[in-house]
Amino acid sequence: MQTKRGCPYDCAFCLYPYIEGKRVRYRPPGMVVKDIAQHYHQWGARRFWFTDAQFITGKEAYPQCTEILERILSEKLEIEWSGYIQTSLITPDLAKLMVRSGVGDLEVAITSGSQEVLNNLYMGFKLERLYDGCRYLAEAGFKGKVILNDSLNSPKETEETLLQSVEAYKMVASILGEERVFPLMFFLGIQPNTDLEQRLLEEGYLSAGYNPLMLTPNSIRKLLYNPAPLNKIIAKACLKAWEQKSGSRDPRKWTGSLSQTSQEGGTYADANLLVASKGIPDGTRSSPWKNPAVQKTSPLGLAFRGKIPHDLLALTSPFYPLNTLQSRDGRCYHAVSFTEAAIVNHLVFLAIMTILAVCEGAWRRHLNVQDYLYSGR
Ligand code: SF4
Repeated sequence: MQTKRGCPYDCAFCLYPYIEGKRVRYRPPGMVVKDIAQHYHQWGARRFWFTDAQFITGKEAYPQCTEILERILSEKLEIEWSGYIQTSLITPDLAKLMVRSGVGDLEVAITSGSQEVLNNLYMGFKLERLYDGCRYLAEAGFKGKVILNDSLNSPKETEETLLQSVEAYKMVASILGEERVFPLMFFLGIQPNTDLEQRLLEEGYLSAGYNPLMLTPNSIRKLLYNPAPLNKIIAKACLKAWEQKSGSRDPRKWTGSLSQTSQEGGTYADANLLVASKGIPDGTRSSPWKNPAVQKTSPLGLAFRGKIPHDLLALTSPFYPLNTLQSRDGRCYHAVSFTEAAIVNHLVFLAIMTILAVCEGAWRRHLNVQDYLYSGR
């Protein structure tokens, strides 16, 4: 659910202000909550993600955010909502309202535990304020979890600032409880029309005229910014963390609303998805085609018997319908829609792409002949 468009911040790596603009345009709270209510009553949706670049874009956004949350309460919509949140902008009153209106898990881009690194990326918040926001949430009885996004090896990163990021995680964990805080490690992706791209062009890290859409292994390595010398330390730390498998999982029992809805006998948007989710072992990416319930409902499911590489299909065709499921450990997981129409779509798409590729090749050959003729050679 989108409640506003635009982001007024200048984070050096981010494309949102370029795509959506820096001026924030707000949807009227009444309309937002009307949409939520329609999904709630008509299709049984209970969990909502606010897709805004940031749900709280600044103090100017307080009236709109507050009214949305108050209307959710006054209309008795018992939902769980989430989104990207700048906790540095949370006030004690807003925290109470967030908790009462059903705030769930939040994604918080702390990015680094070093104020110097943050300032160098023009992140526009103080770490102290971020911790304050977490405190207000804890005092208000926040029961969700916080996904703490860290972008390691940003410009100006040093071994010392890496250690400060570890300390920052510990600080947030001490405020909210270790079981509620999940640090996620990212690298900055270099995106066109951003300050970071400009800087790296000037430094010679990127060459002028590079193609940001060139997805060769080399260019991917370059565009996921993780330069030497810290890349090796980070890689070693990653490998070590992956070896400690028990530490990389959410230790809590599954309490997600998919299963809750089922027990309560409520309706869910897509009964097929609910059935399919029951076949997913904890924490694994298992094909829904392996689920006997799906095989029964779909002749193709029966035919493929779990062998269909659905991730591959989903990646290779934009027409391939995707539905998002949540596995029992709370991770997101994409499943294909169980319709034969999806397969037909996929084949039609491949056929169109093949015809276009052949036509393009012929046209290029035609142009080359013309070049040759007109060059006078
Ligand atoms: S990272 Fe977030 S806050 Fe910063 S510009 Fe992008 S959307 Fe806005």
